[in-house]
Amino acid sequence: MRRLGLVRDVDLALHLPLRYEDETRIEPIAALREGEPAQVEGVVRGCRVDTRGRRQLLVHLRDETGQLLLRFVHFHPAQHKQMAEGQRLRVRGELRTGFHGPEMVHPTVRVVALGAPLPQALTPVYPATAQLPQAYLRKAVVSALGRAPLCELLPARLVPPALPSLRDALQVLHQPPPGVPLQSLAERSHPAWQRLKWEELLAQQLSQLQAQAERARLRAPALPLRADGVRSALQAALPFALTAAQQRVSGEIAADLARAQPMHRLLQGDVGSGKTVVAALAAATAIDAGWQCALMAPTEILAEQHFRKLVDWLQPLSITVAWLAGSRKGRLRTQMLAQVADGQARLVVGTHAVIEHDVAFARLGLAIVDEQHRFGVAQRLALRHKLQAQSLEPHLLMMSATPIPRTLAMTYFADLAVSTLDELPPGRTPVLTKVFADTRRSEVVARIAGAVAQGRQVYWVCPLVQESEHLDLQNVTATHAELAAALPQAAVGLLHGQLPAAEKAATMARFTQGQLQVLVATTVIEVGVDVPNASLMVIEHAERFGLAQLHQLRGRVGRGATASACVLLYGQPLSAAGRARLQAMAQTGDGFEIARRDLEIRGPGEFLGARQSGDALLRFADLQLDEALLQHARAIAPRLLAEHPDAARAHVQRWLAGRAEYLKA
Ligand code: ADP
Ligand code: MG
Repeated sequence: MRRLGLVRDVDLALHLPLRYEDETRIEPIAALREGEPAQVEGVVRGCRVDTRGRRQLLVHLRDETGQLLLRFVHFHPAQHKQMAEGQRLRVRGELRTGFHGPEMVHPTVRVVALGAPLPQALTPVYPATAQLPQAYLRKAVVSALGRAPLCELLPARLVPPALPSLRDALQVLHQPPPGVPLQSLAERSHPAWQRLKWEELLAQQLSQLQAQAERARLRAPALPLRADGVRSALQAALPFALTAAQQRVSGEIAADLARAQPMHRLLQGDVGSGKTVVAALAAATAIDAGWQCALMAPTEILAEQHFRKLVDWLQPLSITVAWLAGSRKGRLRTQMLAQVADGQARLVVGTHAVIEHDVAFARLGLAIVDEQHRFGVAQRLALRHKLQAQSLEPHLLMMSATPIPRTLAMTYFADLAVSTLDELPPGRTPVLTKVFADTRRSEVVARIAGAVAQGRQVYWVCPLVQESEHLDLQNVTATHAELAAALPQAAVGLLHGQLPAAEKAATMARFTQGQLQVLVATTVIEVGVDVPNASLMVIEHAERFGLAQLHQLRGRVGRGATASACVLLYGQPLSAAGRARLQAMAQTGDGFEIARRDLEIRGPGEFLGARQSGDALLRFADLQLDEALLQHARAIAPRLLAEHPDAARAHVQRWLAGRAEYLKA
């Protein structure tokens, strides 16, 4: 129960059924319909273990209207005994027509006495784990419902009209009386559901407002712009002019940094929109003000690319850039740590290694997190806590190529300032996306040969086989061999997560320098890799990838001036969601549109990386379906906080308890 977050009585009371089973009625066997779940009651007329073919337990059950076979492939000796001839059983299952007539496979079975009373309410089925039996959970919920403090916290005039009290709503949802329209429970449109969803949305709005108020009290070092510092020198030295969008968001960031309140800003921009240079300008601002900057990226390949680029830009300006990653150990690492600790390293670039315990900054003024959604909340919190000095917090800039759809931004990130790069650097041509069945693989290989002959470079991405890293490896290695054989004129490289970091870096460097024409890789190249000469991207088993991931991968091409293409190969069978994702990819190259569709296909919990934060953020409400409730909660939250601050706090505590911290990060 603890693993499900069921600690307090209130948690159990708010643990709502997934669905219900109707055990309030008994159907005559003769009236059963194929494929529909039903409950029957009868007496056992025969019970034996059949050993011809697959070993199974066969039970013949009879009532006044007919006969039914119960079939168990997995069973205990105890079950065999329980269902002995003459026993009266109440059985729930789905009817199907087998070889010997009507049967139920693995129904739930209970031994009852003649005339045993039927339950008065529908039977709830709860989200559970394998080790947690429904019967136990049901009992725990019923007793918790009795004990839980569920008094009305909110003034009645602030609750939407015509909704039941919280206690009544929970009573209905846990133990729906017979006659409640099951449809309205399943669709969550019943007033009891409305009440729960509204409460949840309100808790979430309130916690956002609280987080905002708390942040307003925090202090950060003010990092004002300097006219003659590293920043202006860097800008003057860039080989290109900033786009209007880059100038605008740089201005927004600079304005935040100049204040003595920690920045909490998300820089979102489609892949290739040029976020790195914006980050570099922000870093230079911190350096100009005499503070350090840390830049953290989710993979070593990506961190290293940032490192190289930033060294190129900043070393000529006499700025020391330090490198911290898992692969750097021993004396070199100790040296780096010393430079970070005494403030000599003005900019520190790396992976998770940046937030390890032994990394101490002299004066961390700005933390930048690239592809922030790839990091857990705990990691972002750790980065913020790297500046313990003088009760100050560093400014925080998060970057993402996966834009947050508007409804999500409104609900989850009320406390987050957002800058958007809505313009690509000039000279890019849109990537043409083609969706092919796997059977057309040889055509695709021919196309690769063509691209290579024209001096272009090609990515071939192999999917993750979820069940086994070993299979992944086999898959990517086999594809590498296949392409190397099919393309004798090309140098084909191989990149996957299990190679030593040094080998990965070497392969990536050879591809970047054009010594490799084809790179076969797993998703290690997903984020941030920047090789402008690469103009063809092939993604194998594209149906297994998420939409955001596909978009990221596609963003690896179309970075130079030549027309680029992305080929999505899919295997059969193709699920409806898989088809929808591939269609979305073929239809649009716009990251915002992709994000919107992604939200549609997946729902917000997953979109936000619920597993990362350890908890789905909204359990009951649906941002699209419940927009009216959301609007109401949004309007009420500030009033509640102002007029009834104690009730507001108690409400958040009841709903979110320990999770509130996560919502703020
Ligand atoms: P992303 O937003 O995906 O992180 P990058 O920062 O990697 O994008 O930039 C993509 C490419 O565009 C890089 O090669 C970068 O040097 C280049 N670039 C960035 N800004 C401009 C610009 N204003 N004009 C031309 N090229 C640019
Ligand atoms: Mg990037």
